[in-house]
Amino acid sequence: MTSLDEFLQSQLPAALELLRQMVGINSFTGNRGGVNRLGRFTAESFAPLGFAAEFMPSTNPGYGDHLVLTRPGRGPKSIAMISHLDTVFPPEEEVRNNFRWQPEGDLIYGPGTHDIKGGTAMMWLVLLALRERAPAVFDAITWKLFWNSSEEVISKDFGDVCRARFDAGTLAALVFESEGRLGVERLMVIARKGRVTWRVTVTGRGAHAGSKHRHGANAAVQLGLTLQRIAALTDYSRELTFNVGTIAGGGVLNRVPHEAVAEGEMRAFTPEACAAGKAALLALAGPGEIRAVADRFACDVQVEILSESRSWPRNPATDRLAELWQQAGVELGIPVNIEQRGGLSDGNQIWDAVPTLDGLGPWGDNDHCSERSADGSKVPEFVEISSFVPKAALNTAAILKLAEQSVPERSR
Ligand SMILES: [Zn+2]
Repeated sequence: MTSLDEFLQSQLPAALELLRQMVGINSFTGNRGGVNRLGRFTAESFAPLGFAAEFMPSTNPGYGDHLVLTRPGRGPKSIAMISHLDTVFPPEEEVRNNFRWQPEGDLIYGPGTHDIKGGTAMMWLVLLALRERAPAVFDAITWKLFWNSSEEVISKDFGDVCRARFDAGTLAALVFESEGRLGVERLMVIARKGRVTWRVTVTGRGAHAGSKHRHGANAAVQLGLTLQRIAALTDYSRELTFNVGTIAGGGVLNRVPHEAVAEGEMRAFTPEACAAGKAALLALAGPGEIRAVADRFACDVQVEILSESRSWPRNPATDRLAELWQQAGVELGIPVNIEQRGGLSDGNQIWDAVPTLDGLGPWGDNDHCSERSADGSKVPEFVEISSFVPKAALNTAAILKLAEQSVPERSR
């Protein structure tokens, strides 16, 4: 019998060929047809492993179908794996920047090579290894694989699709977003920040900038003051950050602006920090200090919350999963550590339904970038070929440990 590494190495060319074909299908979130083509291709690719497909329409009709693949097992336990179909690259951008499948040495550049089609190829490789190395376990477990059609726009309905299919025997949900790296350590993701997006609208009073300047209440000046206060709410000691993202206001230069608007976001790891940040933001609403000199007419500051994505705080169920990966790492000689990451993933939507671990994908970098400059200062998204086999071995070994666990008792 060959070693796990040798088996994975022998299957790597097939996994990379699968990845090449997936990267060749543009699946920008807004490209509904492309996302659905990739969904069908993915279902066909996993069918030989015994998976049956279900396509779930998105609640937003502009997005493609979510994909659910299931392989029923003989026993009561199930394991969920999570990825997504979409990328952030519109077809025109791929053409404009000649951004396509480009292997160079140990790296492969291309849209989604890392985020997250490389993660889907990793899922395929790991399931192949489980079937080959531990057929009894592979057959005993019910495998449920989920692909979000619209993860990059944080579609909330995907969480419901997953939650409806988790059952009392679900041991874990494993998210195949990219691996973190710190030196030689591979970092599993055990928490992710929540995100609140906001808009501040200042209403002032317009006036002729030449003849009636004293009658104006300058909305742009008030917005500037308010935004300074928002920026000052960032508290790195609590991992609470505010970002002013866009700013607009005024119209022509000979008029005191009557309106100015800014939008941005706030992030934090715990529900408490999110709530505190949100409260501090909302407290900035009300009359501003910028007033018309003529009659003390004050600018008015409005604060709106545009969207909220829950935080995935550090929690014991996730920590227990991370320990299995660390144990497997010790046995395989692969240093494994943990990280709390600022960006969102589908883990934010499901972590409190079943124990969830993220970062099971291969290593790469420059996600969401498509430009390349001749001087090397701009490099597009890529995945590292040599990261697949060790990470697949780690995932396989850890999942075998997970499969031995008894079904968790959950208070619902
Ligand atoms: Zn992703």
